[in-house]
Amino acid sequence: MLGEIRGEVRFKEPLSFHTSLRIGGPADIFVVPQDVDDIRHALLFAEREQLSVAVIGGGNNLLVRDRGVRGVVLRLEGCLGRAEFHGEEAIVGAGVSLSALIREAAALNLGGIECLVGVPATIGGALAMNAGTPDGWIGDFVSAVYFLHPDGTLGEFKPTSGAFTYRAFDAPAGAVLIGCRLRLTRRPIAEIQKDVKVRLKHKKATQPLALASAGCVWKNPPGDFAGRLIEKCGLKGKRINGAEVSSKHANFIVNRGGGTAADILALMELTRERVQHQFGIVLEPEIRIVGE
Ligand SMILES: Cc1cc2nc3c(=O)[nH]c(=O)nc-3n(C[C@H](O)[C@H](O)[C@H](O)COP(=O)(O)OP(=O)(O)OC[C@H]3O[C@@H](n4cnc5c(N)ncnc54)[C@H](O)[C@@H]3O)c2cc1C
Repeated sequence: MLGEIRGEVRFKEPLSFHTSLRIGGPADIFVVPQDVDDIRHALLFAEREQLSVAVIGGGNNLLVRDRGVRGVVLRLEGCLGRAEFHGEEAIVGAGVSLSALIREAAALNLGGIECLVGVPATIGGALAMNAGTPDGWIGDFVSAVYFLHPDGTLGEFKPTSGAFTYRAFDAPAGAVLIGCRLRLTRRPIAEIQKDVKVRLKHKKATQPLALASAGCVWKNPPGDFAGRLIEKCGLKGKRINGAEVSSKHANFIVNRGGGTAADILALMELTRERVQHQFGIVLEPEIRIVGE
């Protein structure tokens, strides 16, 4: 079944090549599918061999442990990379980058989703994480999600209220998301572009975009900001080997070069302990931690 895959199959592929943190041990079997059939072949192979399956989009929210990931890793960035527009609706493949989608929609005077600009993501990763900003999250725009079950059969999910919550999507177990329908709204391109410019400027001013990171490490606790709590603990700039609590935004951990997953995890543990000790609040990770 692996032999039927038309895309790429690699063995012992370092996942540090595929994560924005530039950290992560090898994937035993790394598949870059070319289409839905390829994904299906990989899923059926994993099911037959009783291997686990992990999905990577752009790798912008992932901490992969240093010994890597056993089983099959499917990397969807660059696959399923088309968006179609029908009236005020977009039908989008899971591998489309969010920034490209915002740009393509704007060219057709379609907006709404520009509130998500500056979130590095594939559509699959944005759906899985319910990516968002204070002005909205992707779940607000979704009318249907298409996915493959672990046995390769196609599924469609019409989100009801509560399916998308803060940085989470209640997807069916083991689903590989392959695309979605999004409701957009008519808006002149000039207005969208102006809005995008302001939002990107704000991101640049407040986030360490020049350094390797996975965005916000922790979810904000109700009514507060994880970054504020971490800063109050005096942890801005705190470093463990290559990992550092950003001095620009305390909820980011950056890889200063040569950082390992063990360094990031140690810094996370220290942060969690200090915040709990000082404020009695237990921080929950927003980043997804995978591997062994
Ligand atoms: C500089 C920076 C700024 C950021 N700012 C923001 C922000 O403002 N708001 C925000 O919400 N996030 C932010 N993030 C985090 C990140 O951009 C989002 O979480 C984004 O949605 C991740 O998308 P991805 O394609 O990279 O997913 P990945 O990181 O590859 O994967 C994230 C999770 O989704 C799962 N997944 C991915 N694709 C699929 C699929 N097709 N099917 C099933 N599961 C899938 C993965 O298994 C994993 O659990 C930021 C990150 C960085 C580096």
